[in-house]
Amino acid sequence: MPGKMLDTTIAGSLPKPAWLATPRTLWAPWHLEGAALEEGKRDAVRLALRDQEEAGIDIITDGEQTRRHFVWGFVERLEGVDFSKMITIGIRADRYKAEVPTVTAPLRRKGPIHSDEVRYLRAQTRQRIKFTMPGPMTIADTIHDTQYGSRAKLGMALAALLNEEARELAALGVDVIQLDEPAFNVYMDEVRDWGIAALEAAVEGLACRSVVHICYGYGIKANKDWKRTLGHEWRQYEETFPLLAASRVDGVSLECAGSRVPVALLGLLAGKDVYLGAVDVASETVETPEEVAKVIRGALRHAPAHRIFPCTNCGMVPLPREVSRGKLHALARGTELVRRELLGS
Ligand code: ZN
Repeated sequence: MPGKMLDTTIAGSLPKPAWLATPRTLWAPWHLEGAALEEGKRDAVRLALRDQEEAGIDIITDGEQTRRHFVWGFVERLEGVDFSKMITIGIRADRYKAEVPTVTAPLRRKGPIHSDEVRYLRAQTRQRIKFTMPGPMTIADTIHDTQYGSRAKLGMALAALLNEEARELAALGVDVIQLDEPAFNVYMDEVRDWGIAALEAAVEGLACRSVVHICYGYGIKANKDWKRTLGHEWRQYEETFPLLAASRVDGVSLECAGSRVPVALLGLLAGKDVYLGAVDVASETVETPEEVAKVIRGALRHAPAHRIFPCTNCGMVPLPREVSRGKLHALARGTELVRRELLGS
Protein backbone atom coordinates (compact mmCIF):
# COMPACT_ATOMS: atom_id res chain seq x y z
CA MET A 1 0.00 0.00 0.00
CA PRO A 2 1.61 3.29 -1.06
CA GLY A 3 2.40 5.87 1.57
CA LYS A 4 0.72 9.25 1.71
CA MET A 5 2.61 12.17 3.11
CA LEU A 6 2.50 12.52 6.88
CA ASP A 7 1.62 8.86 7.47
CA THR A 8 0.42 8.40 11.03
CA THR A 9 1.40 5.70 13.50
CA ILE A 10 1.68 5.21 17.27
CA ALA A 11 4.77 4.68 19.41
CA GLY A 12 3.60 1.16 20.16
CA SER A 13 1.43 0.26 23.13
CA LEU A 14 -2.27 0.80 23.79
CA PRO A 15 -4.19 0.16 27.04
CA LYS A 16 -5.21 -3.46 27.61
CA PRO A 17 -8.83 -4.49 28.20
CA ALA A 18 -9.66 -4.93 31.92
CA TRP A 19 -10.48 -8.61 31.38
CA LEU A 20 -6.92 -9.24 30.15
CA ALA A 21 -4.76 -7.28 32.62
CA THR A 22 -5.20 -4.68 35.34
CA PRO A 23 -5.73 -1.31 33.63
CA ARG A 24 -3.44 1.68 34.11
CA THR A 25 -0.63 -0.44 35.55
CA LEU A 26 2.85 -1.17 34.20
CA TRP A 27 3.97 -4.81 34.54
CA ALA A 28 0.27 -5.65 35.20
CA PRO A 29 -0.29 -9.36 35.86
CA TRP A 30 -2.48 -11.31 33.39
CA HIS A 31 -6.05 -12.08 34.44
CA LEU A 32 -6.23 -15.23 32.30
CA GLU A 33 -4.18 -18.41 32.11
CA GLY A 34 -3.12 -21.04 29.61
CA ALA A 35 -5.14 -21.33 26.41
CA ALA A 36 -7.61 -18.69 27.61
CA LEU A 37 -4.72 -16.22 27.99
CA GLU A 38 -3.47 -16.89 24.46
CA GLU A 39 -6.97 -16.44 23.05
CA GLY A 40 -7.51 -13.33 25.16
CA LYS A 41 -4.28 -11.74 23.89
CA ARG A 42 -5.34 -12.30 20.29
CA ASP A 43 -8.79 -10.85 20.92
CA ALA A 44 -7.12 -7.81 22.51
CA VAL A 45 -4.91 -7.40 19.42
CA ARG A 46 -8.02 -7.39 17.20
CA LEU A 47 -9.51 -4.61 19.32
CA ALA A 48 -6.25 -2.64 19.21
CA LEU A 49 -6.15 -2.94 15.40
CA ARG A 50 -9.80 -1.99 15.11
CA ASP A 51 -9.29 1.15 17.23
CA GLN A 52 -6.36 2.26 15.07
CA GLU A 53 -8.08 1.51 11.76
CA GLU A 54 -11.30 3.18 12.84
CA ALA A 55 -9.37 6.32 13.79
CA GLY A 56 -7.57 6.30 10.43
CA ILE A 57 -4.03 5.50 11.59
CA ASP A 58 -1.85 4.53 8.61
CA ILE A 59 0.84 2.25 10.08
CA ILE A 60 -0.65 -0.15 12.61
CA THR A 61 0.88 -1.90 15.66
CA ASP A 62 -0.50 -4.74 17.78
CA GLY A 63 -0.80 -2.30 20.68
CA GLU A 64 1.71 -4.54 22.52
CA GLN A 65 -1.29 -6.47 23.85
CA THR A 66 0.66 -9.73 24.09
CA ARG A 67 3.46 -8.62 26.41
CA ARG A 68 3.38 -7.73 30.09
CA HIS A 69 5.95 -4.96 29.65
CA PHE A 70 7.72 -3.59 26.60
CA VAL A 71 11.06 -5.12 27.67
CA TRP A 72 9.71 -8.54 28.74
CA GLY A 73 8.17 -9.56 25.42
CA PHE A 74 11.62 -10.24 24.00
CA VAL A 75 13.53 -11.13 27.18
CA GLU A 76 11.06 -13.74 28.47
CA ARG A 77 11.92 -16.04 25.61
CA LEU A 78 15.73 -15.91 25.79
CA GLU A 79 17.91 -18.73 27.03
CA GLY A 80 20.30 -17.47 29.72
CA VAL A 81 17.76 -15.29 31.54
CA ASP A 82 16.56 -16.68 34.87
CA PHE A 83 13.13 -15.37 35.87
CA SER A 84 13.31 -17.27 39.18
CA LYS A 85 16.14 -14.91 40.18
CA MET A 86 14.27 -11.62 40.35
CA ILE A 87 16.11 -8.74 41.93
CA THR A 88 15.10 -5.12 42.57
CA ILE A 89 17.41 -2.59 40.92
CA GLY A 90 17.28 1.11 40.08
CA ILE A 91 16.76 1.60 36.34
CA ARG A 92 17.18 4.66 34.05
CA ALA A 93 19.94 6.02 36.35
CA ASP A 94 17.90 5.03 39.42
CA ARG A 95 14.85 7.06 38.36
CA TYR A 96 12.71 4.17 39.48
CA LYS A 97 12.95 0.70 40.97
CA ALA A 98 12.06 -2.38 38.99
CA GLU A 99 12.10 -6.07 39.80
CA VAL A 100 14.14 -7.65 37.03
CA PRO A 101 15.40 -11.15 36.09
CA THR A 102 19.06 -12.20 36.09
CA VAL A 103 21.36 -13.07 33.18
CA THR A 104 23.07 -16.25 34.40
CA ALA A 105 24.44 -17.78 31.18
CA PRO A 106 25.33 -16.78 27.59
CA LEU A 107 22.21 -15.38 25.89
CA ARG A 108 20.61 -17.25 23.00
CA ARG A 109 17.25 -17.28 21.29
CA LYS A 110 15.51 -20.59 21.96
CA GLY A 111 13.81 -20.07 18.58
CA PRO A 112 11.65 -17.44 16.89
CA ILE A 113 10.28 -15.05 19.51
CA HIS A 114 7.65 -12.85 17.87
CA SER A 115 6.96 -14.73 14.60
CA ASP A 116 3.52 -15.97 15.63
CA GLU A 117 2.46 -12.51 16.76
CA VAL A 118 3.64 -10.95 13.49
CA ARG A 119 1.92 -13.61 11.35
CA TYR A 120 -1.30 -12.96 13.22
CA LEU A 121 -0.97 -9.18 12.93
CA ARG A 122 -0.09 -9.43 9.21
CA ALA A 123 -3.15 -11.60 8.58
CA GLN A 124 -5.53 -9.26 10.42
CA THR A 125 -4.94 -5.99 8.58
CA ARG A 126 -4.20 -4.71 5.09
CA GLN A 127 -2.52 -1.61 6.51
CA ARG A 128 1.24 -1.36 6.77
CA ILE A 129 2.47 -2.73 10.13
CA LYS A 130 5.15 -1.70 12.59
CA PHE A 131 6.57 -4.05 15.20
CA THR A 132 8.36 -2.87 18.34
CA MET A 133 11.11 -4.47 20.39
CA PRO A 134 13.26 -3.05 23.21
CA GLY A 135 16.67 -1.76 22.14
CA PRO A 136 19.93 -3.33 23.39
CA MET A 137 20.82 -0.56 25.85
CA THR A 138 17.35 -0.41 27.35
CA ILE A 139 17.28 -4.18 27.87
CA ALA A 140 20.77 -4.05 29.42
CA ASP A 141 19.44 -1.38 31.80
CA THR A 142 16.39 -3.44 32.75
CA ILE A 143 18.10 -6.70 33.67
CA HIS A 144 20.57 -7.92 36.30
CA ASP A 145 23.77 -9.30 34.76
CA THR A 146 26.05 -11.90 36.34
CA GLN A 147 27.41 -13.25 33.04
CA TYR A 148 28.87 -10.57 30.75
CA GLY A 149 30.51 -8.24 33.27
CA SER A 150 29.95 -5.07 31.25
CA ARG A 151 26.88 -3.33 29.90
CA ALA A 152 28.60 -2.87 26.54
CA LYS A 153 29.32 -6.60 26.16
CA LEU A 154 25.80 -7.50 27.29
CA GLY A 155 24.36 -4.88 24.92
CA MET A 156 26.29 -6.18 21.91
CA ALA A 157 25.18 -9.75 22.68
CA LEU A 158 21.58 -8.57 22.83
CA ALA A 159 21.99 -6.62 19.59
CA ALA A 160 23.03 -9.78 17.73
CA LEU A 161 19.91 -11.61 18.98
CA LEU A 162 17.64 -8.67 18.15
CA ASN A 163 19.08 -8.63 14.63
CA GLU A 164 18.36 -12.35 14.13
CA GLU A 165 14.80 -11.77 15.27
CA ALA A 166 14.30 -8.55 13.30
CA ARG A 167 15.45 -10.14 10.02
CA GLU A 168 12.90 -12.94 10.47
CA LEU A 169 10.10 -10.47 11.26
CA ALA A 170 10.93 -8.36 8.22
CA ALA A 171 10.72 -11.49 6.07
CA LEU A 172 7.21 -12.11 7.47
CA GLY A 173 5.98 -8.79 6.12
CA VAL A 174 6.68 -6.20 8.81
CA ASP A 175 7.07 -2.78 7.16
CA VAL A 176 8.82 -1.02 10.04
CA ILE A 177 10.86 -2.46 12.92
CA GLN A 178 11.14 -0.13 15.89
CA LEU A 179 13.64 -0.50 18.72
CA ASP A 180 12.70 1.32 21.93
CA GLU A 181 15.66 3.08 23.55
CA PRO A 182 14.43 5.38 26.35
CA ALA A 183 17.87 4.71 27.88
CA PHE A 184 19.35 6.87 25.08
CA ASN A 185 17.99 9.93 26.90
CA VAL A 186 19.71 8.94 30.14
CA TYR A 187 23.20 7.51 29.52
CA MET A 188 24.61 9.97 27.03
CA ASP A 189 28.23 8.77 27.36
CA GLU A 190 27.24 5.14 26.87
CA VAL A 191 25.18 6.05 23.79
CA ARG A 192 28.35 7.39 22.20
CA ASP A 193 30.64 4.63 23.50
CA TRP A 194 28.58 1.59 22.50
CA GLY A 195 24.85 2.37 22.22
CA ILE A 196 24.93 3.50 18.60
CA ALA A 197 27.14 0.55 17.63
CA ALA A 198 24.69 -1.84 19.29
CA LEU A 199 21.71 -0.20 17.60
CA GLU A 200 23.40 -0.43 14.20
CA ALA A 201 24.21 -4.10 14.78
CA ALA A 202 20.57 -4.73 15.68
CA VAL A 203 19.19 -3.19 12.45
CA GLU A 204 21.89 -4.35 10.04
CA GLY A 205 20.67 -5.86 6.77
CA LEU A 206 16.93 -5.52 7.43
CA ALA A 207 14.59 -5.82 4.46
CA CYS A 208 12.29 -3.18 5.96
CA ARG A 209 12.52 0.30 7.46
CA SER A 210 14.03 0.70 10.94
CA VAL A 211 13.40 3.34 13.60
CA VAL A 212 14.67 3.97 17.11
CA HIS A 213 12.20 5.37 19.67
CA ILE A 214 13.77 7.73 22.20
CA CYS A 215 11.43 9.35 24.67
CA TYR A 216 11.15 10.79 28.14
CA GLY A 217 9.10 7.82 29.31
CA TYR A 218 5.52 6.88 30.05
CA GLY A 219 3.34 9.50 31.71
CA ILE A 220 3.89 8.08 35.20
CA LYS A 221 4.78 10.07 38.33
CA ALA A 222 8.51 9.16 38.43
CA ASN A 223 8.92 10.47 34.88
CA LYS A 224 6.89 13.62 35.46
CA ASP A 225 9.07 14.36 38.52
CA TRP A 226 12.24 13.71 36.49
CA LYS A 227 11.09 16.01 33.69
CA ARG A 228 10.75 18.82 36.20
CA THR A 229 14.53 18.55 36.88
CA LEU A 230 15.52 18.85 33.20
CA GLY A 231 15.29 22.62 33.00
CA HIS A 232 13.60 25.04 30.65
CA GLU A 233 14.76 23.30 27.46
CA TRP A 234 15.30 19.56 27.06
CA ARG A 235 18.40 19.21 24.91
CA GLN A 236 19.31 15.50 25.38
CA TYR A 237 18.49 14.88 21.70
CA GLU A 238 21.12 17.42 20.70
CA GLU A 239 23.83 14.91 21.71
CA THR A 240 22.29 11.82 20.15
CA PHE A 241 20.72 13.11 16.92
CA PRO A 242 24.03 13.87 15.11
CA LEU A 243 25.22 10.33 15.97
CA LEU A 244 21.95 8.86 14.73
CA ALA A 245 22.00 10.99 11.57
CA ALA A 246 25.37 9.39 10.72
CA SER A 247 24.15 5.88 11.59
CA ARG A 248 22.44 3.19 9.53
CA VAL A 249 19.08 3.42 11.35
CA ASP A 250 16.41 4.83 8.99
CA GLY A 251 14.47 6.95 11.45
CA VAL A 252 14.02 8.37 14.92
CA SER A 253 10.83 8.46 17.00
CA LEU A 254 10.85 11.37 19.40
CA GLU A 255 8.76 13.27 21.92
CA CYS A 256 7.55 16.69 20.80
CA ALA A 257 4.01 17.27 22.13
CA GLY A 258 3.68 19.10 25.43
CA SER A 259 7.41 18.75 25.99
CA ARG A 260 10.26 21.21 26.27
CA VAL A 261 12.18 19.71 23.37
CA PRO A 262 13.15 22.56 21.00
CA VAL A 263 11.63 21.51 17.67
CA ALA A 264 14.64 22.96 15.83
CA LEU A 265 16.62 19.89 16.98
CA LEU A 266 14.85 18.02 14.16
CA GLY A 267 17.26 19.83 11.86
CA LEU A 268 19.97 17.50 13.23
CA LEU A 269 18.22 14.48 11.66
CA ALA A 270 18.71 15.37 8.01
CA GLY A 271 17.86 12.44 5.72
CA LYS A 272 16.14 10.40 8.46
CA ASP A 273 12.48 9.53 8.93
CA VAL A 274 11.06 11.55 11.82
CA TYR A 275 8.36 9.85 13.90
CA LEU A 276 7.04 13.03 15.43
CA GLY A 277 5.44 12.78 18.88
CA ALA A 278 2.42 15.03 18.29
CA VAL A 279 0.25 13.54 21.05
CA ASP A 280 1.18 13.81 24.72
CA VAL A 281 0.89 10.57 26.73
CA ALA A 282 1.57 12.25 30.10
CA SER A 283 -1.79 14.03 30.03
CA GLU A 284 -5.27 12.51 30.09
CA THR A 285 -6.62 15.52 28.24
CA VAL A 286 -7.39 14.57 24.65
CA GLU A 287 -5.74 16.98 22.23
CA THR A 288 -7.83 18.89 19.71
CA PRO A 289 -6.96 18.21 16.07
CA GLU A 290 -5.73 21.81 15.89
CA GLU A 291 -3.25 21.20 18.75
CA VAL A 292 -1.87 18.16 16.91
CA ALA A 293 -1.70 20.16 13.67
CA LYS A 294 0.29 22.88 15.40
CA VAL A 295 3.03 20.43 16.44
CA ILE A 296 3.22 19.08 12.89
CA ARG A 297 3.39 22.56 11.37
CA GLY A 298 6.27 23.38 13.73
CA ALA A 299 8.15 20.27 12.61
CA LEU A 300 7.60 21.08 8.93
CA ARG A 301 9.90 24.06 9.34
CA HIS A 302 12.77 21.64 10.05
CA ALA A 303 11.97 18.45 8.09
CA PRO A 304 10.15 17.71 4.80
CA ALA A 305 6.57 16.31 4.85
CA HIS A 306 7.54 13.03 3.21
CA ARG A 307 9.95 12.34 6.11
CA ILE A 308 7.49 13.14 8.92
CA PHE A 309 5.30 10.45 10.50
CA PRO A 310 2.94 11.99 13.09
CA CYS A 311 2.93 9.72 16.13
CA THR A 312 2.34 9.58 19.88
CA ASN A 313 5.11 10.72 22.24
CA CYS A 314 5.35 7.27 23.81
CA GLY A 315 3.22 4.21 24.57
CA MET A 316 -0.35 4.73 25.78
CA VAL A 317 -0.61 1.56 27.92
CA PRO A 318 -0.99 3.49 31.23
CA LEU A 319 -3.93 5.61 29.94
CA PRO A 320 -7.68 4.93 30.21
CA ARG A 321 -8.95 3.30 27.00
CA GLU A 322 -11.41 6.07 26.11
CA VAL A 323 -8.60 8.65 26.44
CA SER A 324 -6.33 6.56 24.24
CA ARG A 325 -9.07 6.20 21.59
CA GLY A 326 -9.67 9.95 21.69
CA LYS A 327 -5.97 10.60 21.16
CA LEU A 328 -5.87 8.25 18.15
CA HIS A 329 -8.68 10.22 16.54
CA ALA A 330 -7.03 13.56 17.37
CA LEU A 331 -3.77 12.35 15.81
CA ALA A 332 -5.47 11.31 12.57
CA ARG A 333 -7.68 14.40 12.30
CA GLY A 334 -4.91 16.85 13.17
CA THR A 335 -2.68 15.25 10.54
CA GLU A 336 -5.48 15.50 7.97
CA LEU A 337 -5.75 19.25 8.63
CA VAL A 338 -2.08 19.73 7.76
CA ARG A 339 -2.25 17.44 4.71
CA ARG A 340 -5.07 19.58 3.32
CA GLU A 341 -3.07 22.75 3.93
CA LEU A 342 -0.07 21.28 2.10
CA LEU A 343 -2.24 20.19 -0.82
CA GLY A 344 -3.85 23.63 -0.91
CA SER A 345 -7.40 22.33 -0.66
ZN1 ZN B 1 8.59 5.87 24.94
